[in-house]
Amino acid sequence: NRQRFEGKTVIVTGAGSGIGKAAAIKMASEGANVALFDLLNDRTSETEAEINAIRPGAARAFDVDTSDAARVEKGVLETVELFGSLDVVFANAGINGVVAPIEELTLEDWQQTMDVNLNGTFLTVKYAIPHLKKQGGSIIITSSINGNRRFSSFGMTAYSTTKAGQVGFAKMAALELAKYKIRVNVICPGAIATNIDQSTHKKDELKEIVIPVEFPEGSQPLAEGPGTTENVADLVAFLGSAESCHITGAQIIIDGAESLL
Ligand code: NAD
Repeated sequence: NRQRFEGKTVIVTGAGSGIGKAAAIKMASEGANVALFDLLNDRTSETEAEINAIRPGAARAFDVDTSDAARVEKGVLETVELFGSLDVVFANAGINGVVAPIEELTLEDWQQTMDVNLNGTFLTVKYAIPHLKKQGGSIIITSSINGNRRFSSFGMTAYSTTKAGQVGFAKMAALELAKYKIRVNVICPGAIATNIDQSTHKKDELKEIVIPVEFPEGSQPLAEGPGTTENVADLVAFLGSAESCHITGAQIIIDGAESLL
């Protein structure tokens, strides 16, 4: 068993479920202490317990709504107090939000998706920088093929806008932070089996665009179905570790060729 994260502290946002959970487990199993930022719920407590069963004390859950600046700032400070440093940040929390034609989308609907997906990414990175600066580090941001390579999810305009925005943010941050040896990379998963559909609110029946029958919506030529959270966790661990020490500002698609269809 490799120990790429021995002595490292990692913050994972949206760590209670899906991709964040798998990445937290992966990095903790390779030696990391992980701060689990999520809305405090049963799933987050279960993730904390699951990791502490692997290595006692390796995980701590923090009640952090990533769109709330004060909570993020406090969570980051408490993480550094508890574990002694900060080395890797996985800014991953996200919601699908309201799915509707643009003319039916209210400003509040739009704003909620911006708050979590874009403001949350900005705030997580902003408050981590002072600590990462001390010895360098790695930031990984979860975007999506939606809004970057794929535009067929009708009604997901707010979501796709945030996912395109995260790519721009990551590239700006990579340039700005290179002088501190802080790397910033952005990953664009295709369909991954998680709980994200629970964060989807459809306003009405939406006309879906027609997709060729041999490749139904969400299918991936490589996997004949959605990818797994472990597939993504392996990429995140690579980007968080020294193995990727010369990779920054990269946008990495992980979708089994879904977005080429
Ligand atoms: P998920 O719903 O299983 O997990 C997301 C977690 O984020 C949940 O535990 C949720 O409680 C948490 N969260 C939501 N709002 C939050 C907030 N304001 N503050 C803190 N935590 C919050 O979903 P997932 O699929 O694992 O999604 C993770 C990321 O992956 C998202 O950014 C999503 O856009 C992206 N993504 C997912 C897919 C997919 O098909 N599942 C594809 C591409 C990109």
